[in-house]
Amino acid sequence: MTEVAILGGGPAGAAAAIALGSARRRPLLVEREPVPREKVCGEFMAADAAAVLTRLGLDLPGLGAVPLDRALLASGRRQAEIQLPFPAWSLPRASLDAALLEAAEAAGAILLRGVAVARAEPRSEGWRLRYSDGQGVEARHLVLATGKHECRGLARGVPGRAIGLKMHLGGMAPEGAIALLACRGGYAGLQPRPGGGMNLCAALDLAAPGVADAARAGPAFLAHVAAGSALAERLLAGAEPLWARPLAVANLPYGYLHRRATAPFRVGDQLAVIPSLCGDGIAIALRSGVEAAKHLIAGGTPAAHHAAWQRRLAWPMRLAGAMGLALNHAPGLAVSLAGMMPAVTAAAARMTRAG
Ligand SMILES: Cc1cc2nc3c(=O)[nH]c(=O)nc-3n(C[C@H](O)[C@H](O)[C@H](O)COP(=O)(O)OP(=O)(O)OC[C@H]3O[C@@H](n4cnc5c(N)ncnc54)[C@H](O)[C@@H]3O)c2cc1C
Repeated sequence: MTEVAILGGGPAGAAAAIALGSARRRPLLVEREPVPREKVCGEFMAADAAAVLTRLGLDLPGLGAVPLDRALLASGRRQAEIQLPFPAWSLPRASLDAALLEAAEAAGAILLRGVAVARAEPRSEGWRLRYSDGQGVEARHLVLATGKHECRGLARGVPGRAIGLKMHLGGMAPEGAIALLACRGGYAGLQPRPGGGMNLCAALDLAAPGVADAARAGPAFLAHVAAGSALAERLLAGAEPLWARPLAVANLPYGYLHRRATAPFRVGDQLAVIPSLCGDGIAIALRSGVEAAKHLIAGGTPAAHHAAWQRRLAWPMRLAGAMGLALNHAPGLAVSLAGMMPAVTAAAARMTRAG
């Protein structure tokens, strides 16, 4: 029997694998994708994510991440600019996830790529994982790190109504800046990619007019975001979609915070889904992965791990939710207030950071 199986090789699962591997626990890490690929994500990381990555032996500038130091906010004809209150970077998810999986293997984790777990079942002593090819494995402890995807037998059961869209674009992004662009049904983030081009990522209400069309084709997605503000129109003029259609993920359960005490250890999006606006998801994934590993090494329980995160995330989740609501329902006012009170906006952004 394997001592620890980790299900999912995104930032949360890989961080847990590196921490356990470094403590000579040789976890089994099961990832369904044969090679890391792009995921729906704004690709924005701040100092908290960078600090955990450093502890895991990775260095964002060394991986080629683009530094960011300001945020542009826009809705309609209104626009504001604030200095980011922390260092931040932009790095494509395929690059980040590949580097983390490589570090996990180097730390001693056994990595099974291209294998999907179809079901996880509790046993009297541990877990039985069934792979989609009919094979499987038994493990004493399970770390659930499947991100936005549910594992049969362990689903969170909280469908949301937001959809996430992402597209890599050719063209010039504003240097050193993330642009937060209000549009119908939500908002989008636009930022530079290493080596040129931009990443456009949006969290939208699927029921809002135009959103279903935006999900179907690159040009429609760009047009949807460009219609939301003069700044978006200017930044996206001449931008070229690099994929035929955006990557999409539906039913995002924003505001979800896992409250049950029972096993398995949940990490990353399986533990909490903070509104994407503040870009803390990767930091929470990395840190929760490391902390689940610490609990496992010390003989701690999933209950203690989940309870610690409930305490830590209660306030940042509320604040990030309120900021997301303001940008969704009164975007013009939110942008004007951000422009009038940049220090308050920066402080609010800092206070959402829980990773
Ligand atoms: C629109 C949007 C924008 C975002 N922007 C940002 C941002 O700018 N900055 C930020 O920090 N966060 C952002 N986030 C959040 C961030 O993407 C997530 O919080 C983060 O990816 C969570 O990491 P994870 O490891 O939990 O999950 P994931 O990164 O989703 O990894 C889960 C892994 O599990 C694997 N898997 C799933 N099911 C199985 C299975 N059955 N068997 C085997 N493997 C499986 C998947 O292939 C995947 O590799 C955004 C999210 C959305 C939706």
